[in-house]
Amino acid sequence: GRGAAVQEELLRARRRLSLQEQLCQFYRQRVSIPEEEQARARRAALDICAEFRLFLRAKLPDMPLREMYLSGSLYDDLQVVTADHAQLMVPLVLEKNLWSPVPGEDTIMKAPGFWLVRRENLEYFPRGSSYWDRCVVGGYLSPQAVLELFHRQVAGSMNWPAIGSVLDYVIRPAVPCERLGLEVQYEAERRLRLAFLPLLALEDGLLLVASPHRRPERHQSLWRQSVRAERTARLRALDREDGGCRCRCLKLAAAACKLDPALSRLSAGQLAAALLLLCRGPGDWGRDALAERFLQLLRALVGHLEAGRLPCALYPKIDLFCELTPEEVDELGYTLYCALSNPESLLRF
Ligand code: GDP
Repeated sequence: GRGAAVQEELLRARRRLSLQEQLCQFYRQRVSIPEEEQARARRAALDICAEFRLFLRAKLPDMPLREMYLSGSLYDDLQVVTADHAQLMVPLVLEKNLWSPVPGEDTIMKAPGFWLVRRENLEYFPRGSSYWDRCVVGGYLSPQAVLELFHRQVAGSMNWPAIGSVLDYVIRPAVPCERLGLEVQYEAERRLRLAFLPLLALEDGLLLVASPHRRPERHQSLWRQSVRAERTARLRALDREDGGCRCRCLKLAAAACKLDPALSRLSAGQLAAALLLLCRGPGDWGRDALAERFLQLLRALVGHLEAGRLPCALYPKIDLFCELTPEEVDELGYTLYCALSNPESLLRF
């Protein structure tokens, strides 16, 4: 029909554009989220966060937490395609002399980028001296136990249907359930996933989050070192120096991965790391270089996947591919390798 003819014409017109032009069009039409949509999503997240704070103050005043807050790509203009998720950060207060971080690389698990948190001084401060002793497993503070406790005592005991009807949202537990959190439907067609992320702020700026290792059988007690804030700050600072297009390039790649199921295993963190490594080399990051840099990023990712390793730009010992299976590495590598000769295929309008 007529619609199909129009579609065909649009497609033909698009084919005549250069990659640079197509990327810009994709960015405008699909990648960047309208300000109004972001504001609505942030509003819904903030309403829920406020409810949690009230509940915690009233019902669990003994739980040693700092004030909960919201975080994630929605808050630093790095979310793409739809405003559909954010993290609810839950900072635990730990007694200074009772806990010490042990680097994962020094343990039998040999896991750089992950940490154990050991309970210390048991002879002077016996088990039970700290609220968080109830989450200690085998001498270490277990992120899994913290998540479970939180789920049971907080998320599980709030009356979400009632709160939802007051706020005029539909609120349900998120599926799949292991991504502890909620799904908030705040308009007929708009849903927001909120994930709880317990967090430990330790000395020397070490930030650990309870985001389990993907291979939990061996790694249940490991906390994940969070480099998100540092890497985002680094990207922004670099972009400011030369009016560059790094964040735009990152968002384009993130959108391509979000829209293609074969690439959904690649995270914003991995993409950002590959991009930061590129930034060390020579290269013009001005707006006009977008297509060239985008292709360069794809090539770099293919290279890292071939090597089976992606060092974190800020902490090179951390391998950001360490949680992927060899099959996943192969599939990602194959998909991106094919895209090198046809990068337009990654732009799903
Ligand atoms: P995006 O969510 O894919 O757009 O990208 P983000 O860079 O916002 O990544 C969010 C993911 O990083 C979540 O799955 C978190 O579990 C994880 N993460 C690790 N450390 C942090 C942190 O300090 N803050 C937040 N918000 N997320 C973190």
